[in-house]
Amino acid sequence: MSLKVEVDEDKCIAAGQCVFAAPEVFDQRDEDGVVVVLEEHPSADHEQSARSAAALCPAAAIELREQ
Ligand code: SF4
Repeated sequence: MSLKVEVDEDKCIAAGQCVFAAPEVFDQRDEDGVVVVLEEHPSADHEQSARSAAALCPAAAIELREQ
C-alpha cells in the first residue's frame, strides 16, 4: 500500500507547517505561500513526515490517501 498526498489549495492559509514538518514532500509557492506538493507518492522514508505535516496543518488542507 502506498500513500498519495492531496492538498486543497483553497483551504491552505500558507502557514508553512507542512514544509517545516516534511520539506521533502511539500514546498510553498513563492508568490503567495500556497502549498505545492513535491512528492505526490512519498517514499517510505518520507511517509511519517508527510503524516506529521497533515496532522500539523492548521487548515486541514492536506489529505492522505492509502492506495
Ligand atoms: S501547513 Fe497547511 S495551511 Fe500551511 S502551507 Fe501547508 S497546507 Fe497550507
